[in-house]
Amino acid sequence: MADYDFDVLVIGSGPGGYVAAIRAAQLGLRTACVESRETLGGTCLNVGCIPSKAMLHASEYFDAASNGTFAKLGIKVTPELDLDAMHGQRIDAVKQLTGGIAFLFKKNKVEWLKGRGSFVDAHTVQVGDKTVTAKDIVIATGSSVTPLPGVEIDQKVVVDSTGALELPKVPEHLVVIGGGVIGLELGSVWRRLGAKVTCVEFLDQILPGFDGEVRKESNKIFKKQGIEFKLSTKVTGVTVNGDKATLTLEPAAGGEATTLEADCVLVSIGRRPNTDGLALDKAGLSVNQRGQIEIGHRFETSVPGIWAIGDVVPGPMLAHKAEDEGIAVAENIAGLTGIVNHDVIPSVVYTWPEIAGVGLTEEAAKEKGEVKVGKFPMVGNSRAKTNHEPDGFVKIIADAKTDRVLGVWCIAVPAGTMIAQAAQAMEFGATSEDIAYTCHAHPTHSEAIKEAAMAVRGKPIHI
Ligand code: FAD
Ligand code: NAD
Repeated sequence: MADYDFDVLVIGSGPGGYVAAIRAAQLGLRTACVESRETLGGTCLNVGCIPSKAMLHASEYFDAASNGTFAKLGIKVTPELDLDAMHGQRIDAVKQLTGGIAFLFKKNKVEWLKGRGSFVDAHTVQVGDKTVTAKDIVIATGSSVTPLPGVEIDQKVVVDSTGALELPKVPEHLVVIGGGVIGLELGSVWRRLGAKVTCVEFLDQILPGFDGEVRKESNKIFKKQGIEFKLSTKVTGVTVNGDKATLTLEPAAGGEATTLEADCVLVSIGRRPNTDGLALDKAGLSVNQRGQIEIGHRFETSVPGIWAIGDVVPGPMLAHKAEDEGIAVAENIAGLTGIVNHDVIPSVVYTWPEIAGVGLTEEAAKEKGEVKVGKFPMVGNSRAKTNHEPDGFVKIIADAKTDRVLGVWCIAVPAGTMIAQAAQAMEFGATSEDIAYTCHAHPTHSEAIKEAAMAVRGKPIHI
């Protein structure tokens, strides 16, 4: 057998890669992780999940202080924005968490190889001026922003999500291109801090992939909060003149173009897998039409000994999906059985209220067979009502014959936390009756999940 430098070499240290590396090391494998950034943690910790949540959390308080929410609770304040301090706590959160991964690497004896990795052959990777060999290689190179053809991101007037996290001042008018998760989360941050926000979305509704009713209701809530939407509208160009931008908009169905002025434009039209510069061909690999690396159910690629996980493979681009795949791939490499149930991956938009779902949308479930749907509005939930949080609902979709839960969708202030119980119930093959007869603490927002489950049989109590 060849003598390799490492048992496992992971390329990329995002939530997929760092978790795979740590698990591989825990399983007794000699492991290294190649990362070209200055800090570990990938998109998620450096420029994604964590900094966006830091800005969402802080701006939520600012909004509550300015929009009358605090006043309703008997708290009189006149907030003053210290944007530098707000950015400071974001930078601090990123620093602490990325440093935490470096600590975990040391603790678990994962070697960090600093630099950009590219294949020399199926068991050899070049990192800077060094080459390293490994018996198994995991590609976890993640994704980056999809560019809008002809539009240059200067990170000043035209920004991507990274630039939008770091704006040095609140823009007067921010135009967000794309009504997906990034557009709505970062659009919400700057709307709360005082910007006028317009969101231009190509499709006839925001949040593609979410349940139809949830998409419509979310749109209403965001509109009520002051975000303006231009649906069924495509941005075909952006020109920058000094510190202003002019966007060219066209109706999605074709027709006359119009223009829109902005002093900041966020391009958030999706993300694409990172494979440039990896020299996949030298390892005998190629990508599919969407630029992703195809894998089998064990996360193995078409080349023995090479595996792939996270945003670089097909499936939702979510940190927790990447993490779970990281654990599973390491276990498979170690000869165990690592499995991820891709039918039960929750999805959360961290706005106010939060929007979350797991499993099938009502539309997708109906395509597969007969369903029963139970819905419960948050206005009927005692905790939400007491907290002045009336917006939203919980919806449970169950198989009409077996009652097995197929999908759960929530719009509620803590929907991201509430969805965990739905995912766990689905993972255990629960019926709506199982959820309805599970005792939920009172008064909690989660009682709305129990009531929605009761509504599947037409018998909620509080509405
Ligand atoms: P990544 O996190 O992208 O990490 C890949 C790493 O590989 C990068 O650090 C990159 O530098 C490195 N790399 C790439 N090529 C090479 C190479 N050749 N050599 C060496 N290193 C290389 N998801 C959620 O679940 N929840 C959220 O709240 C959330 N918020 C987000 C907010 C924003 C603004 C963005 C942009 C994304 C957000 N996401 C969120 C998505 C989430 O960040 C990704 O799904 C997740 O980071 C994917 O993990 P990954 O390990 O596959 O890749
Ligand atoms: P997205 O795919 O969620 O949304 C992009 C939107 O842009 C789509 O609705 C699309 O129709 C629209 N669009 C595309 N071209 C357009 C054009 N020319 N004009 C107008 N609209 C156009 O992409 P995103 O919001 O950039 O997010 C990227 C990824 O990051 C997502 O896959 C998401 O999973 C991940 N992410 C997750 C979270 C979270 O879990 N909370 C947060 C941020 C990002």
